[in-house]
Amino acid sequence: MQLNFTTRETELLHLVAQSAADLQIEAFAVGGFVRDKILNRDCKDIDIVCVGSGIDLAKRVADNYRQRYPNDEYPHVAYFKNFGTAQIRLHDIELEFVGARKESYRRESRKPIVEDGTLEDDQNRRDFTINALAIYLSKERFGEIIDSFNGLEDLKNGIIRTPLEPEITFDDDPLRMLRAVRFASQLNFRIEDKTYQAIEPLAGRLKIISQERITDELNKIILSAKPSVGFKLLFNTKLLHQFFPEMVKLHGVSLVDNYGHKDNFYHTLKVLDNLSENTGDLWLRWSAILHDIAKPATQRFEEGHGWTFHGHEVVGARWTPKIFTRLKLPLDEKMKFVQKMVALHLRPISLTKENITDSAIRRIIFDAGDDLESLLLLCDADITSKNEEKVKRYKENLKLVLQKIKEVEARDHIRNWQPPISGEIIMQTFNIKPSREVGIIKEAIKDAILDGVIPNDYDAAYNLMLEKGNELGLTMNN
Ligand code: ATP
Ligand code: MG
Repeated sequence: MQLNFTTRETELLHLVAQSAADLQIEAFAVGGFVRDKILNRDCKDIDIVCVGSGIDLAKRVADNYRQRYPNDEYPHVAYFKNFGTAQIRLHDIELEFVGARKESYRRESRKPIVEDGTLEDDQNRRDFTINALAIYLSKERFGEIIDSFNGLEDLKNGIIRTPLEPEITFDDDPLRMLRAVRFASQLNFRIEDKTYQAIEPLAGRLKIISQERITDELNKIILSAKPSVGFKLLFNTKLLHQFFPEMVKLHGVSLVDNYGHKDNFYHTLKVLDNLSENTGDLWLRWSAILHDIAKPATQRFEEGHGWTFHGHEVVGARWTPKIFTRLKLPLDEKMKFVQKMVALHLRPISLTKENITDSAIRRIIFDAGDDLESLLLLCDADITSKNEEKVKRYKENLKLVLQKIKEVEARDHIRNWQPPISGEIIMQTFNIKPSREVGIIKEAIKDAILDGVIPNDYDAAYNLMLEKGNELGLTMNN
């Protein structure tokens, strides 16, 4: 098999081979690098295994790199003595070194007892056959593939399979179950039956894995081309139940007098897939996952009406920081963005022909601000129904909203707009400190302008401020 190394990769691999020869040890490229090369996927890390010390090899590579490219900076070698691993970051590529090892595990921890081993030992401890391929780097055999577990065949057929008994592989390191799902989703591969069946009984073992690692894999699933593939596997193997009960609760349909509603789990996945066709943004994808998360908590059956989920967007937005905290997702502006998307997701679509008023449109533009395009992408993805007529009607309506947004924005410039009277001015005028009253007056001015009750100018806003102040019993500061 011919592997398509870039010129840069070939240079670096030869450099590694030469460095290994200097130290009289053997080195191989392995793991994700080999897999991705064969699949013609982009890869930015090169995984190297040597039968010897990975740290010594990395240092040697850095020395030789410097000799070979004297004008380049001396490469930084980061090494982790405890793990026997080292990394060299070179502009565009990261080299990852590890000494071949043999691992044995204790049940209560995913930290193995590690001993030096052979290449074969090292391949045995890898998670999947497609990740256990190695290639020779020595001059004589450069690029030859070592395939101890039929990984090539599995790569060709799109199969995820553990090299050893799956129960042992997963019990040793339960993160591998999530990795199986992640690769299935990322590569659109199938998890082989025995491997698949081993997951559910061991799903509870995920509890020894840190949330950060779990979330890392989860985010990779979310970023795959069709994330529903991964989520269905997570659900069916009960892995999802271990760390995301709110999402599990979306599953199922309640019936009253034969009236059902959409299954919110599959609806959410459809929205996520739809959206993923139009954005690679992780946080917008998270908004799709959370947009209906509070539906089960807010659902009611109303006689004569059927199922309602009043306020699910408000409750969902309230839950967002809690869910982000537990999943160890960032609590910064990314969370705020998701929260805002969840809170606003019904707004554009709830406008029907009759109530697409300028004032409603101005409010959406104001409330969504810079995230308006994202919100509209989410709304568009949220239109799912088996009834094509319905889908068409909603899509047309959303187009109308979009059109109206363009008109209103061109005329009124609401985006990034600030009301002409600030909190500062209100406080100075009435000689008051930051307080509830300041908020009430500010809100009244904003509402009046967005609703078109007063024009968007200073004088009109100033007068309204005085009027509201008077109503609140405030006196002017002379
Ligand atoms: P990606 O880089 O896309 O996340 P990868 O397969 O390269 O995927 P890495 O975490 O970079 O994953 O690991 C490199 C290699 O190390 C893997 O291909 C696999 O051979 C091995 N590996 C990583 N994690 C595990 C694990 N938990 N158990 C066994 N082997 C693993
Ligand atoms: Mg990798």
